[in-house]
Amino acid sequence: MTTAPHTAPELRQVAEQAAADLEEASAPDILRWAADTFGRRFCVTSSMEDAVVAHLASRVMPGVDVVFLDTGYHFPETIGTRDAVAAVMDVHVITLSPRQTVAEQDAEYGPKLHDRDPDRCCALRKVAPLEEGLRGYDAWATGLRRDESPTRAGTPVVGWDAKRQKVKIAPIARWSQADVEAYVAEHGVLTNPLLTDGFTSVGCAPCTRRVLAGEDARAGRWAGLGKTECGIHL
Ligand code: SF4
Repeated sequence: MTTAPHTAPELRQVAEQAAADLEEASAPDILRWAADTFGRRFCVTSSMEDAVVAHLASRVMPGVDVVFLDTGYHFPETIGTRDAVAAVMDVHVITLSPRQTVAEQDAEYGPKLHDRDPDRCCALRKVAPLEEGLRGYDAWATGLRRDESPTRAGTPVVGWDAKRQKVKIAPIARWSQADVEAYVAEHGVLTNPLLTDGFTSVGCAPCTRRVLAGEDARAGRWAGLGKTECGIHL
């Protein structure tokens, strides 16, 4: 197993080669490659909508780091899912927090920044903490899927995250919602209880609503605000 840090040009080359080599590979094979290539300098990020990628990764790398961003605005069900994952799965959950509490942010920017300037709120509470939290890693995996929304249709299974100078891996990019549900059922994977309560994508409580019939899976996120991504995946 290779665990030595790589330089950014080396990492980029690794990402470009893997994107071509692994496009048709299974999710376990993609994660096995990540574990062999990056060792402990690889982590999984999870919104705790479900623990599918964390579960897949734990099977090839027991004790893998699973990074969770606690924005201070999560549903209680999401925090409960995080705690359950930490308690029962063979992973190491790391919770990242923004520099300011919600109260401190309210004092500086005014209350409900998420309603007035969601891009700034996400930058402060998601993008910046993740930036800091990923510093010790060369590669990170996400649960992004191509079928979630038009903006995610081109998600590569392995890509170069130029903004953070890291390899970004989407092992279930080619999966459908049915694939996710089948994996959850087969392995008894933990999922957020809100997924059985009308939500198909779970983010911060003030910016997430249930989806309506015919809407895409992420239609309940920032509904009516013309925003589709928090900035982590842009
Ligand atoms: S999703 Fe909403 S509450 Fe959460 S960080 Fe972004 S704007 Fe703020």
